[in-house]
Amino acid sequence: MAFSKNGKSTIVVVGGGVGGLALLNSLSTIINPKKHTVVLIDARPVYIHLISSLRLVVSNTDDLITRSVHPYGDHTFQNKLVGNGKFIKASVTAVKFGDPGNCGQVILDNGEVVAYDILVLTTGSTLPHPIAFPTGSTKAVEEYVKTRQAEFAAATDILLVGGGPIGIELSGELRDVFPSTAITIIHRAPLLLNAVYPDKFRVAIQKQLEDRGITILTGDTITSSDSLDVLSNPVPKGEFITEQGKTLMPDLVIPTWGMRPNTAYLPSDLLSPTSHVKILPTFQLPTHPNVFVIGDIVDCDERKSASRAAFSHAPKVAKSVVLYLDLLEARRNASFPDAKLDITDLLASKQSAKYKKSIETMMVSNGKDSGMCYFDILWGIMVGGWLSSLLNSKDLMVSRLSPFTGYTPS
Ligand SMILES: Cc1cc2nc3c(=O)[nH]c(=O)nc-3n(C[C@H](O)[C@H](O)[C@H](O)COP(=O)(O)OP(=O)(O)OC[C@H]3O[C@@H](n4cnc5c(N)ncnc54)[C@H](O)[C@@H]3O)c2cc1C
Repeated sequence: MAFSKNGKSTIVVVGGGVGGLALLNSLSTIINPKKHTVVLIDARPVYIHLISSLRLVVSNTDDLITRSVHPYGDHTFQNKLVGNGKFIKASVTAVKFGDPGNCGQVILDNGEVVAYDILVLTTGSTLPHPIAFPTGSTKAVEEYVKTRQAEFAAATDILLVGGGPIGIELSGELRDVFPSTAITIIHRAPLLLNAVYPDKFRVAIQKQLEDRGITILTGDTITSSDSLDVLSNPVPKGEFITEQGKTLMPDLVIPTWGMRPNTAYLPSDLLSPTSHVKILPTFQLPTHPNVFVIGDIVDCDERKSASRAAFSHAPKVAKSVVLYLDLLEARRNASFPDAKLDITDLLASKQSAKYKKSIETMMVSNGKDSGMCYFDILWGIMVGGWLSSLLNSKDLMVSRLSPFTGYTPS
């Protein structure tokens, strides 16, 4: 591993979403600013709070375009990172890994090449149609939001294809704002969501939505050729005959499927069959111990969530990064200047650096005043209605964003 001329090591973080910002915030209290600098790279100029993004694209409720879309800047680097952090707006298109444990480079779509001593990848998931925000500029994001809002406002009969969390939450947001619009969810499985969750939870959500006049068609779907059509044009030309033979005549069709790990810039030998990044229990790449991975792209048998990325993955990785650099420095000072850190050093030195899965939780909003939460403890605890609204749906954590992003909207 090589250190830059000023003796500082460079930690490059790719992805300034939940995992990336949580990592910066954790590092900002434990890092030694005399020894390390941090570079954050994100394809967008703004952090978009995904948890409230479906409310954002439906209407101007709560001025979310101002309150839940926060620009990156100097404020992104807090506490000890002040003056020691730099933001670059660009997409990473490839990583040139060094020899195991040695520094490498990330290649950006603007032609820049950024060298790292430590690399942290947290590039999240590709997003489905209604929230596939552009990367270009803040204005482009605002235009995208306005277009979606106008599309929803003009529709009288909306078909949501897919009854996962996105289809469910979008239907609730739409019902809040458009009480007389016909809304249908069509879902291939016999119950909403997937079999990770107990049937009682899936049934309870369906009942909640139906009580709000949302039609749920389970065990059915549109044909694969119609699916391809609606991906390119959500305003359909005519009727749909579902696989079960039902005729639907929506004037807006929203595909809600298509979340996949954002890992196309990585070589396939680092990825699992589902395109997640294979990691050690310390979140390191098995072949490159100075590269760490956080969030949705991690290959780990758990539901991907903001809470996991922020509260479980990021603080652990922040500590491991600092530990890794300290161990490396100790080696260098012990007159092995070219010593590489063996992967096992980190694993062996701190048992606590290993990750243990946290409990499974799921919070699904149904507009502002309702929703369901599930906690996989004891016999499986479910809460719904007003309590779920209080815990999650009412605010979708928007009022807690500023300390997280370092930005206060004016
Ligand atoms: C509609 C919706 C609602 C959700 N609700 C909840 C909820 O209520 N509770 C919960 O816990 N979780 C929720 N989640 C899940 C949660 O948002 C994700 O699990 C979390 O954001 C993952 O964090 P991340 O850091 O891995 O990725 P992200 O937060 O998605 O951040 C990834 C970042 O990487 C950037 N990026 C991607 N590719 C590149 C590249 N090649 N170069 C540079 N930058 C790149 C992106 O621009 C983005 O800023 C929800 C997700 C969605 C879509």
